[in-house]
This record gives sequence, C-alpha cells and structure tokens, in this order.
Amino acid sequence: MTVPTIALNDGNTIPQLGFGVFKVDPDETERIVTDALEVGYRHIDTAAIYGNEVGVGRAIEKSGIPRDELFITTKLWNSDQGTQSAFDAIDLSLEKLGLESVNLYLIHWPRPDLDRYLETWLALEQIKESGKAASIGVSNFHVEHLRKVIEGSSTVPAVDQIELHPAFAQHEIRDFAASKGIHVEAWGPLGQGKYDLFGMAPVAAAAAAHGVSPAQVVIRWHLQNGIIVFPKSNSRERMAQNFDVFGFELTADEVAAIDGLDQGLRVGSDPTTATF
Ligand code: NAD
Repeated sequence: MTVPTIALNDGNTIPQLGFGVFKVDPDETERIVTDALEVGYRHIDTAAIYGNEVGVGRAIEKSGIPRDELFITTKLWNSDQGTQSAFDAIDLSLEKLGLESVNLYLIHWPRPDLDRYLETWLALEQIKESGKAASIGVSNFHVEHLRKVIEGSSTVPAVDQIELHPAFAQHEIRDFAASKGIHVEAWGPLGQGKYDLFGMAPVAAAAAAHGVSPAQVVIRWHLQNGIIVFPKSNSRERMAQNFDVFGFELTADEVAAIDGLDQGLRVGSDPTTATF
C-alpha cells in the first residue's frame, strides 16, 4: 500500500497518513509501535509529554527499517518554552528516541499566557539549522498565533497540528494556513470517540455504500480534504483497518455531506485559554 506524500513548504515531504501515540502506555509503546510498523505505517506522531518516546525509539530500532524510510514527529512541551529550554528539550527527546534527528519538531501548544511562543519558535529555527529537526512546525496555533510567528521570524511553520474532525472542521485556521503554505495536521481525527461520529448519517451512509467502516470513511474524508492524519489505536486490527483506506474513494457529494457535519464541536482544550 502506498501512502501519498505531501510536499511541505521547506522542501521536505511527509506521508499523509501516520500513526499517533497519544495515551499509549509507555510500557506498551514498543509493542504497539512495532505492530504499527509491521502493518505498514512509516509516520509516527509522538510528543515529549506522552512519556513514550523511549518505546517509540525501541520499536524503530528493532524494526530495522532504514531511517530514511521513516517520518518521526515529536513535540516540545509547554514547560520547555524558551530558548535554552527548547535546545535542552530537543536533545532529551532525541536521546529518548535514540535518533540523531526528527523529521518534524512542533511547539505543542502556544500558551499565549506565557508569551514565549515566538521566542521558542526562534529557537526551533536554530534547531532546524543544526539539523536536529528536518522540519519545524506548531500545534494548536490559532490564526493570531500563526501570524505572530510568521511576522516575527523568517520561517513559516511547515505544519499546524490542530484538533480537527467532521464536527469541528476548523475552516478559519485551514483557510489561513492554506494562504501561507502551512499544511494542516488533524489531531483527534476520529473525534477521540467523544461523540457519535460513526453514527452520523453521512458517515454511516458512505460506510454502507463502500462496504467499509465509519472510521475508514472519516480517515478518507481527511485525506481527500488534503489533511495529514494519524489516527491512534492500540488494537492491531484497527491499525490495519485505519491504514487500509486506499482501495476506495468518497464521491464529491459524500465529502460535502460530511463537511456539512461541522458544528464547532471542540472535544479537547481551547488553545487560547489552556494553561497546562
Ligand atoms: P483519535 O481521534 O485518533 O481517536 C482515537 C480513538 O479512536 C482510539 O482510542 C480508539 O478507541 C478509536 N478508534 C481508532 N480506530 C478506530 C476504528 N477503526 N474503529 C473504531 N474506533 C477506532 O484521537 P487521538 O489519539 O487523540 O488523535 C490522534 C493522534 O493525534 C494522537 O495519537 C496524537 O499523536 C495526536 N494528538 C495531538 C494532540 C496535540 O495537542 N497536538 C492532541 C491529541 C492528539
């Protein structure tokens, strides 16, 4: 199965479908990521705060897959915002992952109350310069936060990783990102199971029409909208199902019907007010 790649604004490419490890128990991460790599995933999304970078690194090492065939993302946690803290944070993440560099390093949340995300972004520019991260980007940034880093630095983030699923389609950020050449990554692409997404009529109808699961329909919806997506599952069967999304295509009407589910339903924290 060939996963399409997306060209980032810095010349690097990213597999459009990956595997996320939020809330994957550190003790189980090596096994779960090993399963994901065996299923065929080559793009893994982790973060320092997930506490499971060591397990991700062990699975990578054990797999024997050449480093240049893998795309690994990690993220700088909020308490590490600042110049020296960012330099220390990437070194620690690389040590835990057992890697010389990551493909993508993200500021996890803007934490506007701290007012250090621009300073942190300037540190990420240096981290990219040093080769410790091939690409740099942000996560949970709203338009105002994106504007501030674009205006205050010489690097446009390669991606903005935001909560995005059919009932929370984030058009304002997507439109702004597209106008600046920033690719959007969806977190919580399946709504984190927090509302009955799979029972919603356009999703259920498309699943029945194509003989696939509602989860596969939602993943296709992301892919066909040009979104980078990395659903999470601890179950190998669901990992395989979520990866098996290239044998069918939603019609334009089906995509439009799922687009119509947007109701501003945020299931996670609001980046403008989050203080963790
Ligand atoms: P998700 O929307 O991928 O939902 C995961 C849940 O969906 C699983 O726990 C599982 O119960 C269910 N599921 C998965 N596959 C299924 C299937 N085929 N059928 C039925 N149910 C299925 O939520 P997520 O894990 O929060 O998001 C994906 C990734 O995004 C994370 O693992 C992480 O890498 C990233 N993330 C980033 C942030 C951020 O702040 N940047 C926040 C949350 C998640």
